[in-house]
Amino acid sequence: MSTEDGEDPPVAAPEPSDRVSDPSDAFQALGNEVRMGILETMLEWTDGVGADAGERDSESDRAHPSFSMLFEASDVETSAGFAYHLDELVGPYLRKVSAESSADADADTDGTNEGYELTYAGEQIARAIATGTYTQRVDHPPVPLEDDCPFCEHDALTARASDNRVTVACGHCERRLLRLDLPPAGLESHGESFPAAFDRYHRHRLSLVRDGVCPACSGEVDARLVRPSPATDDLLPAEHAIHLQAEFTCSCCGTTLRSPVALSLLSHPAVVSFYYEHGQAVSERPLWNVGHEWAETVLSEDPLAVRVVVELEDDVLALYVDERLNVVETQRASVSETTEADAADEGDEAVETTETTEADETVGTHETDDAAETAAQ
Ligand SMILES: [Zn+2]
Ligand SMILES: [Zn+2]
Repeated sequence: MSTEDGEDPPVAAPEPSDRVSDPSDAFQALGNEVRMGILETMLEWTDGVGADAGERDSESDRAHPSFSMLFEASDVETSAGFAYHLDELVGPYLRKVSAESSADADADTDGTNEGYELTYAGEQIARAIATGTYTQRVDHPPVPLEDDCPFCEHDALTARASDNRVTVACGHCERRLLRLDLPPAGLESHGESFPAAFDRYHRHRLSLVRDGVCPACSGEVDARLVRPSPATDDLLPAEHAIHLQAEFTCSCCGTTLRSPVALSLLSHPAVVSFYYEHGQAVSERPLWNVGHEWAETVLSEDPLAVRVVVELEDDVLALYVDERLNVVETQRASVSETTEADAADEGDEAVETTETTEADETVGTHETDDAAETAAQ
């Protein structure tokens, strides 16, 4: 885009980040019961659930609690002692808010309406503490799942939790399908239905990284096709080890998420609409069992490229995925349109149909079609 005189309009550069304290100082400030109590009180205030939230009088009826309110909420006996602890939190976790910058600056002007608010870091840490992220270890005995095992097809899948980590496994063939974290609050608040929450949680994390945003820190995410490394068994059954994986890495915090390529495509509009046209909601399929209808074929080794095919009834959708995990092309085919065979024929017929679409592909060469067979098993 250019302006009339031919010069590009100035692009506002982001403000340089401002480091308000060293990590060791910031965490040291938390090592005290009184200060933990202050953060807890501040969080209750922020959420409007403080002890006096329903009946705040005119003095306290304002956006930010004052020193005296926080002091009263504490067990500290002297205000001087309390002031010391409060000051330790100001900077990394608390911000002083004066009357001028307060939303209700007209409350009074005698200097008593200085208050405190949580900084971004203060709110993050207070919520993490409140929800047990740093303190709770949650185990849950196995819960049976509705879906059959995608490998042996027995009704023997369970999900269990150990130390905030959920494992989905089959009791019949003893394969482990997934092992991923779920925060303690998720395990505790959802009770017996934690597997559904676990599915939603990771589905949305996957969707977020697919959109280029890190679920841990919101940083920029790099996406690419990779060959699975021996160390990464988190989302990939051993039987799929010859397959390519989708890998998402945050450039800021290093969080890395890997998944089968098919799983990374579940929110693609072509996939969503394909399922919808067949009376199904792909969002209802749990991550540990997106179905037998998926197959993938490595089309090129350098650069890596893969074709992922999903088949429903007589219809086939093919997605061509490049090394950066972009879907560069989609194709639809129908058994009844492309063959003389009876439309009632199933399975192999439809897979055959997808093979005919290769003529139009735009990415790389195709070398290893045997991969698709493994996926279809
Ligand atoms: Zn099984
Ligand atoms: Zn990150």
